[in-house]
Amino acid sequence: MSLTLADARIVTPEGVHEGWLTIEDGRITHVGHGSAPRAGLSVGGRHVVPGFVDLHNHGGAGGSFPTGEQDRARDAVALHRRHGTTTTVGSLVTDSIEGLTRAAASLAELCEEGLLAGLHLEGPYISRARCGAHDPALLREPSPQELAGLIKAGRGHIRMLTIAPELPGALDTIRMAVAEGVIAAIGHSDADYEQTIVGIEAGASVATHLYNAMPPLGHRAPGPVAALLDDERVTVELVNDGVHVHAAMLRLAYEVAGPGRTVLITDAMSATGLGDGDYALGSMRVHVRDGVARLAEGGSIAGSTLTMDVAFRRAVQEVGMSLPDAVQVASLTPARVLGLAGRIGSIAVGKAADLVVLSDSLEVDGVMKDGVWITEP
Ligand SMILES: [Zn+2]
Repeated sequence: MSLTLADARIVTPEGVHEGWLTIEDGRITHVGHGSAPRAGLSVGGRHVVPGFVDLHNHGGAGGSFPTGEQDRARDAVALHRRHGTTTTVGSLVTDSIEGLTRAAASLAELCEEGLLAGLHLEGPYISRARCGAHDPALLREPSPQELAGLIKAGRGHIRMLTIAPELPGALDTIRMAVAEGVIAAIGHSDADYEQTIVGIEAGASVATHLYNAMPPLGHRAPGPVAALLDDERVTVELVNDGVHVHAAMLRLAYEVAGPGRTVLITDAMSATGLGDGDYALGSMRVHVRDGVARLAEGGSIAGSTLTMDVAFRRAVQEVGMSLPDAVQVASLTPARVLGLAGRIGSIAVGKAADLVVLSDSLEVDGVMKDGVWITEP
């Protein structure tokens, strides 16, 4: 089966060009400029961008990855696919070791099916002072032995661990995670600048939602934000929903880290795609009002109701990124973090045909995953 998409504005990290592309057996086999050499499906001059890659996502459409319920997780993945996310990492939240073991084992099956690209343990090794929407009663001191058990339960699909480097045992746990192929991410942390650098030296290479759930930038106390932004080894996640981070601070991070070290994430929770109401995030009760998710007790922001198409659109329209930079931060850079950039993350010959067709106002008109339309443009 071969399909040619013609009359496209193809967005790559290098630029935007008018042209066409051919897809065979789920992969991109040709990318050309100008008019297509064969009859194809015209997309009428609309933009075609690579499918989005979301490194940090707790669910949607009523489904919550932390529960480990497979059918509800399928609903969540389907919702995010309709919004252009063709690769999703499922994020768990702080829970008992038994609860995390159960959820990891259940969701590992969805990873094996190709529905999820891996799992992310956001907790339990995080700071009480910065635990946000995580249940403080379930926080634990980092333990390499305990983590080894969770990695085993996830059958190799745990791809990321968020950890506070200042906690006792954290550095050994970071080293152990990295040795096992798990990306160590600094987040939900009360570390100062120096403690953050020590965590990076131990192997941490991602900042979990930079700015959120960590001390702020200060001119005498630069804190984790400066350490994470300043280090070439670290990629920073940003929740670009206009609630978690002001556009000016997002622009600042992106200008320091550049599109090669900045990724947009959703941090989406189960209410995504459903609207306001009362929900759960792990063991915590969450109220969603005007699309903003907050803990019922205390009012901390509790994930988002963001989808990657909105994050992408805001990056261009509110933050001022170029389209080539926006496809990097929404697709290629997160693919690289996962070690998948040889297969996904940009429109290039040999890569999977994971594509999003966008209108002039950057709304999703069509989504393709592995050469198959999720929604036809
Ligand atoms: Zn999260």
